[in-house]
Amino acid sequence: QAQRQGGHQFCHYCPTLTLSMDDRLTLGNALHQALTNQEFHLHYQPQVQLSTGNVTGVEALLRWQSPHMGNVSPERFIPVAEDFGLIGLITQWVIGAACEQAYQWYCTLPEPLVVSINVSALDLHFNNLEQVIFGHLQRLGLPPHLLQIEVTETGLVADGLQALDTLTRLREQGIRVAIDDFGTGYSSLSYLSLFPWDSLKIDRVFIQNIHQNVNNQSIVALVIQLAQALNLKVVAEGVEVAEEADCLRNFGCDWIQGYFYGRPLPAHQITSALTSPQPQFLQPA
Ligand code: C2E
Ligand code: MG
Ligand code: MG
Ligand code: MG
Repeated sequence: QAQRQGGHQFCHYCPTLTLSMDDRLTLGNALHQALTNQEFHLHYQPQVQLSTGNVTGVEALLRWQSPHMGNVSPERFIPVAEDFGLIGLITQWVIGAACEQAYQWYCTLPEPLVVSINVSALDLHFNNLEQVIFGHLQRLGLPPHLLQIEVTETGLVADGLQALDTLTRLREQGIRVAIDDFGTGYSSLSYLSLFPWDSLKIDRVFIQNIHQNVNNQSIVALVIQLAQALNLKVVAEGVEVAEEADCLRNFGCDWIQGYFYGRPLPAHQITSALTSPQPQFLQPA
């Protein structure tokens, strides 16, 4: 598993729910340090438009290199950050760093590149999420349509109305809004019609081996039909092999993202891949 995450020593064998109280405290305290000591950085994973083969967007994925624990996976530390009340500060850092990078690409790339940022549902309850985002957009002169927010439906359950308000205002200002990990949370269908989404990202559990799994083919084909009827774009997550990509193309999926087209990479590697005559991440990973 660690190998599949790009060769880093991510700790995937101990999901948060099974962390001991001590481990959570250790992680929580270390996260405090991480913020002040600048131990975070972002990687970016390409999103490929199937109709053109072009990379039209990237997803910013948070990386934490702890001096004591090495690389810690966001799947492990984000829930702890939420529990320790640190997620707001972390999200602010992510938004700042991602906006700076989005602005660099806006200034240097010939084609527009949309940068997606993952926000926790808790962030949608902080009144200042919009101020933070618009502050950066204005300061930089970055067009709002070059930014996308990804939210998982699971997180919306707790306080749907506040989240709805925030997402609606962001979208009214031109920020794109995507529902992440679609199909794995609760109330998928009601949240689809309640919230102002631009696109939905089908979780990778439905994409893995889709070419060999008739059930998942039915589910994904139906989700794509539904999305089209609702005027939403569809992104398939976790595409690892060409057969999966072919299958998704046949179903009319709009974008794919996954190791097949490219792993999450530091910004400068994305830039050189995008500006090289033959983009390297378009080759199988
Ligand atoms: P996500 O938003 O659904 O991101 C996709 C995850 O799938 C990433 O894991 C990515 O590295 C991984 N992935 C991409 N392609 C493939 C593939 O082909 N196969 C497999 N097996 N995996 C693939 P990562 O970077 O470890 O992030 C895990 C989760 O942590 C994210 O899931 C997101 O929910 C959360 N996360 C990451 N960065 C942030 C952040 O800045 N803020 C917040 N709030 N959450 C974040
Ligand atoms: Mg995401
Ligand atoms: Mg996802
Ligand atoms: Mg996920």
